[in-house]
Amino acid sequence: MSESAVAELSRETAGLIELEHSLGAHNYKPLDVVLTRGERVWVWDVEGRRYLDCLSAYSAVNQGHCHPRILAAMVEQAGKLTLTSRAFRNDQLPLFYEELAALTNSHKILPMNSGAEAVESAVKAVRKWGYEVKGVPEGQAEIIVCSDNFHGRTIGIVGFSTDPDARGGFGPFAPGFRVVPFGDAEAFEAAITPNTVAFLVEPIQGEAGVMIPPAGYFRRVRDLCTANNVTLIFDEIQTGLGRTGKLLAEEHEGVVADVTLIGKALSGGFYPVSAVLSNSEVLGVLKPGQHGSTFGGNPLACAVARAALKALTEEGMIENSAVQGEYFKTQLQGIRSNMVREVRGRGLMLAVELHPEAGGARRACEALRARGVLAKDTHGHTIRIAPPLVITRDEVDWALEQIEPVLTGGA
Ligand SMILES: *Cc1c(COP(=O)(O)O)cnc(C)c1O
Repeated sequence: MSESAVAELSRETAGLIELEHSLGAHNYKPLDVVLTRGERVWVWDVEGRRYLDCLSAYSAVNQGHCHPRILAAMVEQAGKLTLTSRAFRNDQLPLFYEELAALTNSHKILPMNSGAEAVESAVKAVRKWGYEVKGVPEGQAEIIVCSDNFHGRTIGIVGFSTDPDARGGFGPFAPGFRVVPFGDAEAFEAAITPNTVAFLVEPIQGEAGVMIPPAGYFRRVRDLCTANNVTLIFDEIQTGLGRTGKLLAEEHEGVVADVTLIGKALSGGFYPVSAVLSNSEVLGVLKPGQHGSTFGGNPLACAVARAALKALTEEGMIENSAVQGEYFKTQLQGIRSNMVREVRGRGLMLAVELHPEAGGARRACEALRARGVLAKDTHGHTIRIAPPLVITRDEVDWALEQIEPVLTGGA
């Protein structure tokens, strides 16, 4: 950031930013707001200014910041037992399995930590399933993915990204992935071979700018997967757990995936917890010693996730996401602005795409920040709006009062 911009900040804020800049790797370009506290949909910076969080840590904080119920579960479990490794059993993991399986109709669950680890774990499981169950010749398994996908940042995953920033300079990459356009069932069908073991796809592409595929796409994909014995893997790490107004975004499409990946809000933002959910056939191929994680399934993670799921389902957050999301979207669509190209989204996973000549989404996000709304630009011209699912109608109205002048050029 420029020196004049630093000069406008308080000494404390500027000092913290300078420290971060000088010592940290520059793999992010955050807005220059230094947050120190959060509660529900609100966060406060070190100077005491309050902001409405319209990013929710990329949907990890769906339950709202520092949810008291999750906090209490975390503190209690932290004082009892945090980590045993899977060399021994712990008393939280079976209950986590039981509650998550009942909620999602899953038969088998693999607990991991980050979202990327859940994706990697699914890739490993479906490849092994391909060899042992489908009968694909060893070393020939193929996985189909979509252009503009976002599945995380490991070498395995960025190898099948189509984003030059995500993959450039990081090769060589693992073979065995084919890329097809998102939303194009014919292209998907054409890419299937006898060696195809899985189709890995986001129900709504989040990082790509909240891209919703054409109606009927996933039904056709589901039929093609079934007909060709291909595992359908939905990456619901961002779309899942209430973000789109349903527990899982697949419910909007009327399809059921074979493997579902969740993460982010699985802990309500307290701790990295992810999971692979599947039927018995796919995860059943993993035998002792073939996959693992020191922290995966630890009692602290399980206690936090159990509380996070209870908060989400018992406090009406999924319904609230549907109701407030629909209202928020309708009101945004009603803003008369020649800057806006499209408002889209489902539930509280919303995006405002600006015309290329509107000055860029980053500039709009800076203007929103000045008015007390934190949102994130993506792909240059799209502003993502995804507040915690506990947002009230009054808070949506307050957000709209801040957003409208920015979108109409008045701020
Ligand atoms: C965030 C995200 C991931 C990666 O999760 P991490 O916890 O950052 O590794 C994977 N897939 C989708 C769709 C995501 O939004």
